[in-house]
Amino acid sequence: MSTSSSGKLTRLAAAIPLEDDLHYVWRKALRGHELSVADLQTRWGVSAAEWDAILAGEWSKQAENLAAAWQLSPAALRHHSHYQPEVPHLTSVSRLQLPFENDTVNAWLIRDEDQTLLFDTGYGENDARALLNHIGAADLQLFLTHDHRDHVGGISALRSLTQKQHSLPLGSSITLGNLKIKCLDLAGHCLPSYGYLIEGLSKPLCVVGDALFAGSIGGCPDSFTYEMALRNLHHHVLSLTGETILLPGHGPATTVAQERANNPFFTEPVS
Ligand SMILES: [Zn+2]
Repeated sequence: MSTSSSGKLTRLAAAIPLEDDLHYVWRKALRGHELSVADLQTRWGVSAAEWDAILAGEWSKQAENLAAAWQLSPAALRHHSHYQPEVPHLTSVSRLQLPFENDTVNAWLIRDEDQTLLFDTGYGENDARALLNHIGAADLQLFLTHDHRDHVGGISALRSLTQKQHSLPLGSSITLGNLKIKCLDLAGHCLPSYGYLIEGLSKPLCVVGDALFAGSIGGCPDSFTYEMALRNLHHHVLSLTGETILLPGHGPATTVAQERANNPFFTEPVS
């Protein structure tokens, strides 16, 4: 690999495409319930051809039945292809949009007065470092969301730029300058997974890693972790104030209010 980065810095509010289209949403729900395509025929009378049509975005009685059985939001499923979250522009927050196979992965940079916080490091060894060197970011306070290579691959190359790597006990908080950072349990997609609620800017922020994407969630290998993921998201993310800006590991930023209304995996109103 060359030492120059093919990553780029993008604004928090950049309208980049959703990480998951409807096809992935349905497939993640199928996997989360540990079902095969053959099970769909046996249990709900949905043929393989009808399932293919549902994956392609067709709304049918069968799709409605599956949504009800799997606690997915029918309204959010129907509107998924038109969903594009909007977030306000905050100058102190930037996305490092870093290469990962044919896709990209986000690392999030927050600069407030004398504090520079980085959440995750991208996949390539040198991509994040090259970009951070280029913009003159140093003395990083580093936080990691989960131990998948696309989020921690750049860690060793960042040692020389890092003042401290934080690993906070779940539920605990630290204060760095004006910022208070609280560590949340977002286990499910990966065990463990951490979220970070950040207060002290004009809006509250929550770094969510791959626990949640705008309009989707991170894939879970079985029903145990799928239920854990949804439970943790309900308790620790959907319960936050609606204006909280969510910073996912892939795809665009979003807000709690927009995910409550538009994410097919969330059907229950949160009080
Ligand atoms: Zn990822």
